[in-house]
Amino acid sequence: MEIILARDMGFCWGVRRAIEIMERAAQEKGEIISLGPIVHNPLVMARLEEKGVRLLEGRDLSRRSPLAITAHGAGPEVYERARAEGVEVIDTTCPIVTRSQRWAKKMAELGFTVVVFGDAEHREVKGVLAWTRGKGIAVKDVDEVPAHASRLAVISQTTQNPDKFAEFVGRLLRERMDTIHELRLVNTLCNVTSSQQEAARELAHEADVVIVVGGRGSANTRHLVEVCREEGTETYHIEKAEELQPGWLKGKERVGITAGASTPDWAVQEVVARIQELIEQKAVP
Ligand code: SF4
Repeated sequence: MEIILARDMGFCWGVRRAIEIMERAAQEKGEIISLGPIVHNPLVMARLEEKGVRLLEGRDLSRRSPLAITAHGAGPEVYERARAEGVEVIDTTCPIVTRSQRWAKKMAELGFTVVVFGDAEHREVKGVLAWTRGKGIAVKDVDEVPAHASRLAVISQTTQNPDKFAEFVGRLLRERMDTIHELRLVNTLCNVTSSQQEAARELAHEADVVIVVGGRGSANTRHLVEVCREEGTETYHIEKAEELQPGWLKGKERVGITAGASTPDWAVQEVVARIQELIEQKAVP
């Protein structure tokens, strides 16, 4: 059995950068409080916790430790509140997300209704929308775009699938031409994501089964699963090596492995080691 690794996978530079900044800050200051998980990966969070990066409980800033904003970013109210409470902010927002926030703010200030193509519950999207100060909406479908809005600025959650975003914009043009007077489109997609999705697609072509490694809460990991399944390849999503089931490898010659942008290299290595172990133990049926 051959193990094939996707040519592009795992931690993106935005996440590597955020983790480095946080680890350095925790070392210097003893403890920092992270506004939510740095990445959607419980294993990474557990390791960071050991290094002094704690998760913020509710809205309680009373510990006075510096507050770390994660790579997903946050809305202006978070910076304002920290300033008001005298809490130092350590900002690890990914520069690509910052760019998206700036466009959202600018377009809202120019009077556009800001439409973010993405998941309304995702922290990045919530943060971007907060910069519009109530003049934005997250949508997944053209039907959700407010019918009365005639000046639209369309951006995308950075981790969305480029084909789906293009399809959305195409449909918007086709179906709303009679009501839209002005349309501004800003490409806020992150090419790390599209490169990893393209690599996952190639992998799904080559492999008989694909194992996608990443946190269950990670949007871009779930997109990798979708991409591989769209290619018709049997695909499984796991968070850690122990979840791998020998039955999935039954009769397979090529096992592909890819990982979401929030998955550390060591988690992938553990999966590779686990497959090799199963092969050596002849545990694969
Ligand atoms: S996936 Fe892209 S936008 Fe998101 S943190 Fe990584 S580099 Fe930044």
